[in-house]
Amino acid sequence: MRTLSSHLTGIGVSPGIASGPIERLAPPPTVPEGLRPSGEPDAELRSAADALAATAADLEGRSRTATGAAADVLAAQAMMARDPVLVDRIGELIREGRAAPVAVVTAFDEFRAQLSAAGAYMAERAADLDDIRNRVVARLLGLPMPGVPDPGHPFVLVARDLAPADTVNLDPTQVLAIVTEQGGPTSHTAIISKSMGLPAVVGCGGVAGLVAGQVVMVDGAEGVVVVDPDEALVAQRLGRLAARRSALTGVSGPGRTSDGAAVQLLINLGRERDLGVVAAADSEGVGLYRTEFLFLERPDAPSVEEQRGAYARVFQAFTGRKVVVRTLDAGADKPLRFVTQPDEPNPALGIRGLRTSRRFPELLDGQLRAIARAAAGSGADVWVMAPMVSTAAEAAGFAAAAHGHGLPVAGAMVEVPSAALQATAVAAACDFLSLGTNDLAQYAFAADRMAGELADLLDPWQPALLELIRMTAEAGRAAGRPVGVCGEAAGDPLLALVLVGLGVTSLSMAPTGLPEVRLALSRHSLAECRALAAIALRSPDGRAGRRAVREAGRLE
Ligand code: PEP
Ligand code: MG
Repeated sequence: MRTLSSHLTGIGVSPGIASGPIERLAPPPTVPEGLRPSGEPDAELRSAADALAATAADLEGRSRTATGAAADVLAAQAMMARDPVLVDRIGELIREGRAAPVAVVTAFDEFRAQLSAAGAYMAERAADLDDIRNRVVARLLGLPMPGVPDPGHPFVLVARDLAPADTVNLDPTQVLAIVTEQGGPTSHTAIISKSMGLPAVVGCGGVAGLVAGQVVMVDGAEGVVVVDPDEALVAQRLGRLAARRSALTGVSGPGRTSDGAAVQLLINLGRERDLGVVAAADSEGVGLYRTEFLFLERPDAPSVEEQRGAYARVFQAFTGRKVVVRTLDAGADKPLRFVTQPDEPNPALGIRGLRTSRRFPELLDGQLRAIARAAAGSGADVWVMAPMVSTAAEAAGFAAAAHGHGLPVAGAMVEVPSAALQATAVAAACDFLSLGTNDLAQYAFAADRMAGELADLLDPWQPALLELIRMTAEAGRAAGRPVGVCGEAAGDPLLALVLVGLGVTSLSMAPTGLPEVRLALSRHSLAECRALAAIALRSPDGRAGRRAVREAGRLE
């Protein structure tokens, strides 16, 4: 008998439809506290040796099918798992009376400490060692393998939540869609899935009960996950999506309102592996290049030369177009091993964004140097901006540093309410402003952007947030400075109309958002956008504002 399909709801954060079996991103295994040995050291020894050998064989197998640097890393990991010194040490610890998983963790920790002490290159290998330890321990405890699964066929990735580091190696040819139990509309899961063009639903607690292999259909626009979907339903939804996408191809080129007011349409770029998709999109350039992806999961900062190479590849792909490079935004949800203090009591309010340069001025200096070298003669119109600017003095300091490196256009992100409240002074202190509505909502509403439960407060339609945007856009206009939006709000076609009505001059979003936003703009005049903005501003809350604007606008 066929099971009836069931619908689970969450928050749709990246549109599209996909259907397939699920696989889970398992967390690293933890050894139960006080785990006692079985009393049979020989058996424990055998199981530890078997787990190490099986892990090594698995890594060798994956290394054979991988290519380039990934193949080398996997082969090196397999060699580590077969290291006789490590195997001997685990045996010693078991004979001393430790349970096999405890012995494995202890031996790996000792080995790791030796590697870390040996210097930066070896410290990088320490992260690979942690991965092997987790795999061996998971085998010993009978737990699922940690990390992004690799079942050998395309799958829908299900996780509690995804950290930026988890997403660095996601393979777009294998991952069909992403569903997380936690997370809100501005979480990194939302950002990365949009940049990969994958349908995604976050804050979908219901998926916790699903098991690997169960088939689901993910509707990333509606925020729905259908378990055991009917094939006819999947075909119908895919057909509807294809029809909508082909209707959108009718409008192309630079963004314009129906009466010809220019609104630059730009894209957000994070991982370098998305560069091809991002560069191919019909846009006037990059409005937010999140450079922290170059720094994640590393023991130390990339050298100026390594950075220069990475920036040059981006500029090359955007010859003749604009690229706004955001300097390193480390801390809080994007911790870096060599920058972020692990014991910061309140990381979102701590040393993050531009503040990092208070402690590590050489990081900002090196980055600006690398950007300037890559920009020279590149043919791209390179702008730089600083994240988490709180005062006009910070904006002025950043602009002076950037100009000093020969970078002529330097701006400030407005994502801390103080910068919006002081937008006139901040605008005067630099060359342009870019509203980071994800963090601006988080700080204006004192609501953690990763908290799906607080999605109503983080809603970018909230009139208080729109008021901060209005103030910033107005200050920019008066000072003759462009004001863009590069937070997730920019990719919502209805809200894009409101943002333009509030005075915003460019919108930067994931490539998937561009066609709908371009079409919406082409159907409304600037005066109509202003009227919609007025409606949204005087609405009692975000939900009411969206409803009222939807009724007044002409989107369908
Ligand atoms: C923002 O805060 O809106 C933003 C664009 O930056 P990020 O999402 O990378 O913090
Ligand atoms: Mg931000």
